[in-house]
Amino acid sequence: MTSAQDQTETRTQTRSCVTGLVCRACNVRHPQSHREAFCEQCGKCYDLDYDYARAKDLFKEIGMGSRPASIWRLEELLPILDSSAAARVGKYAGFTPLIKADRLGAELGLRRLYVKDDSTSRPSLSYKDRVVSMAVARLLELGREEIGCVSTGNVGTAVAALAAKAGIEAYVFYPNRLEMTKARACRALGAKVCQVEGNYDEANRRCREVAKLSGLEFANITLRPFYAEGAKTVAYEIVEQLGWQAPEHIVTAVAGGTLSSRIHKGLEELELVGLAETGHTKLHVAQPNGCAPIADAILQHDTKIHPCEPTTKAHSLAIGKPGDGGLVIDAVEGRGGTAGMVSDEQIFAGIDLLASTEGVLTEPAGGTTIAVLKELAAAGRFDPDEVVVAMITGNGLKTLDDHPRKEWPLAECEPEAMLSVLEEFRHAAAAGHEASSNGVSTQHVGMRA
Ligand SMILES: *Cc1c(COP(=O)(O)O)cnc(C)c1O
Repeated sequence: MTSAQDQTETRTQTRSCVTGLVCRACNVRHPQSHREAFCEQCGKCYDLDYDYARAKDLFKEIGMGSRPASIWRLEELLPILDSSAAARVGKYAGFTPLIKADRLGAELGLRRLYVKDDSTSRPSLSYKDRVVSMAVARLLELGREEIGCVSTGNVGTAVAALAAKAGIEAYVFYPNRLEMTKARACRALGAKVCQVEGNYDEANRRCREVAKLSGLEFANITLRPFYAEGAKTVAYEIVEQLGWQAPEHIVTAVAGGTLSSRIHKGLEELELVGLAETGHTKLHVAQPNGCAPIADAILQHDTKIHPCEPTTKAHSLAIGKPGDGGLVIDAVEGRGGTAGMVSDEQIFAGIDLLASTEGVLTEPAGGTTIAVLKELAAAGRFDPDEVVVAMITGNGLKTLDDHPRKEWPLAECEPEAMLSVLEEFRHAAAAGHEASSNGVSTQHVGMRA
């Protein structure tokens, strides 16, 4: 392990134009070095502010062509000052593909549908690589060598992977219900995992106390303002990948509300630094019926979030008391978007629809986005020629334990038996059988995943 306090190492500065932390409610300001994440007066999470005029000049001066294909492309508008801290995290999170989804679009009656595919994100296959990269860089900037987190699933794997890359210790606190593959991945990456007997909201509240009592920095608690900044990078990428044209619509799944509220922040900043006009972009948010406090509030025109007890199988969205809920309501309403809620059955159908049309295997969070996208398209929310971007935030390989389709036939290793199974497959395909039955008679079914 290297020591970040090593004074012989010269600290070079990034091009960050950060001016400090600001509480948007109280208007209190602090320098970037301020150590509290939450406003000492009102308890709201601090936001980061920048010298946008300077950033605008720098964007003009240093063209996009010379910048890395990662979240660090946006160096001026990220809050990290110490360039060696950024380098130690590995500059590879972000800049995921924007896929033109023609087959899915044809199903939904949309000619210009795109999928922003964070299921391929490096290193840990979810959008959380963006936010956790920022939290770990901040931690290193502070000279600390261990990091904790409380996670519905994907923050944990991102912390485990990025901490390993940076050569620091990782401690992951998981609630009682999660996809086990995510916890196993953390262990395999060398993180210490503690599963606590409570739901995410309870675990989150307790982790705040643990942070105070232990002095351990938590990626999504004590480092939260920095963590959240990583999420806005996705807005810049979408707009750049569309040729510096902002789409008419962005649809995304929501849990705590960091991603959706920071997509809004990114869109606003794009105008401030003169990179694109984004005022027309509507933001739509998706939640499962079993945990929809934000969507509920938006659909009821309520300005307050009523916390709930999550019951959904979309575990990465199971946050009943969303920290950034208020920001999401403002972002969706300010942009003229809407919200949608879907059942777990629709969520798994959404996973299948994306998989069978685009070959992208997502987890229930992505299934939620696709299911709501489908509902909004059916309700005529999109003009067929408008550009619609669906955020696919996580990878289905991590959630296969929960996937309803797990069976396949076992045949003897000789052509006749294999041919008979193949014939049944073909027969089922020709009959347009439900993919879920695998089209094979039960006499063959000899194996389960
Ligand atoms: C965390 C997460 C979300 C929701 O993110 P928030 O920023 O908490 O709203 C969506 N999809 C996946 C896969 C996630 O892991």
